[in-house]
Amino acid sequence: MKAGIVGAGLGGLLAGAYLSSEGFDVEVFEKLPFAGGRFTSFSYKGYEVSTGALHMIPHGKRGPLGRMLREIGCDVEIVDSKPEGEFLLNGERELLTKESFTKLDVLKLNLEFLMNKLGRKRTLEEFARGLSERSYLYVRSFLGWSFSISPEQMRFEKIVPIFRRTELYGGPGIPIGGCKAVTESLAEIIESNGGGIHLRREVKAIKPGEKHKIFLDGEERKYDVIISDVGHKITSELLGEKHADHPPESKGVKYTVAIDEPFIGHTGVLFVLGKSIAGMNEVTNADENLGRKHMLQIHQPLRNGTKEEIVQGLREIREILRGYSFEIIAVQSYKGDWPVNRVMAGMDMGNRTKYGSIYVVGDGAKGDDIEVEGIALGVRKVLEDLL
Ligand SMILES: Cc1cc2nc3c(=O)[nH]c(=O)nc-3n(C[C@H](O)[C@H](O)[C@H](O)COP(=O)(O)OP(=O)(O)OC[C@H]3O[C@@H](n4cnc5c(N)ncnc54)[C@H](O)[C@@H]3O)c2cc1C
Repeated sequence: MKAGIVGAGLGGLLAGAYLSSEGFDVEVFEKLPFAGGRFTSFSYKGYEVSTGALHMIPHGKRGPLGRMLREIGCDVEIVDSKPEGEFLLNGERELLTKESFTKLDVLKLNLEFLMNKLGRKRTLEEFARGLSERSYLYVRSFLGWSFSISPEQMRFEKIVPIFRRTELYGGPGIPIGGCKAVTESLAEIIESNGGGIHLRREVKAIKPGEKHKIFLDGEERKYDVIISDVGHKITSELLGEKHADHPPESKGVKYTVAIDEPFIGHTGVLFVLGKSIAGMNEVTNADENLGRKHMLQIHQPLRNGTKEEIVQGLREIREILRGYSFEIIAVQSYKGDWPVNRVMAGMDMGNRTKYGSIYVVGDGAKGDDIEVEGIALGVRKVLEDLL
């Protein structure tokens, strides 16, 4: 069976690595000169500045992605974060533990789970408004950090499976070598199984048929299966169709800060409460090779994507890091065709198309989990169909 894959992001590479391990003849086409999409990095000023991701795997080594990586022999080491998180509120830091939340807030959460089961449909904002101020700010910060959205943009029921998986697998982990180590290892698996990764080869069109066709510049190739890793919108365009009502993407900005001394000092996330920036991590505490000194990555969800929002984020960073010797080495904004998520969290559009063996993977076609874990669950669904 021949599988043609459009896009060498995490979704495309994971699907390709799996299928090539199962004997499929896999060809991946990537329009850029590098593989990995938003899950790789470049060395800049001595720091591994990523193309997107904050070098984190949401459920660490035990989660859906970690498990799939092990299944196909991808030997990337994932260091689970310890502690998983901390709060920063009004200049004070406090470890994030179960005791961080009042008994009343925990009771309200459990009640909301129950009411949700019984059919109550509310946004996270409607639920979180009833919590203590600190818990409310934490919900805002968590959603801003993880999804680049605010609580009014997500329905409560969409967070339930993510919450349950976090209980099951725990919090985040950092791959040694950063996100690039994961995508590079997947690319190696494809190649070692005889597959091909063709860089600088933009797919111009897809034509469904008994054998599906991929059109490249001046060439067409035929496949039994096509897996698109470019989201539903671009996939529809490649198929010559218009996607009638495509949900919005999520926007954000990432600041990479080189800092002489550790600011966070551990491998977990520092959630920043009550600010426009949502949180930060310092992955050099897990892998010192990710930076010449220490590297802070700070994430801010963007409402409108304006310059004023970024100016505000920069102001907050300078205020928080006052007294430290640091340099902001990259400010990268994510919107349009290179967003934080191709579809806002909780609005994912599934992996199937109307063409049977043409599938969509990647963010925007996630299973019901967070970030690359959701991508892994989505790829798993496609594999269940194919294998
Ligand atoms: C700032 C930021 C921080 C993040 N942090 C994290 C994190 O810490 N942990 C986490 O789990 N997730 C994180 N994410 C999300 C994660 O990076 C993405 O969900 C994931 O990398 C997306 O992978 P993908 O395979 O869906 O798509 P992509 O990585 O976008 O890959 C799609 C590929 O297709 C190529 N392509 C597009 N059109 C064509 C065409 N016509 N022909 C050929 N190739 C084409 C593109 O060039 C690209 O390489 C973050 C995202 C951002 C933006």
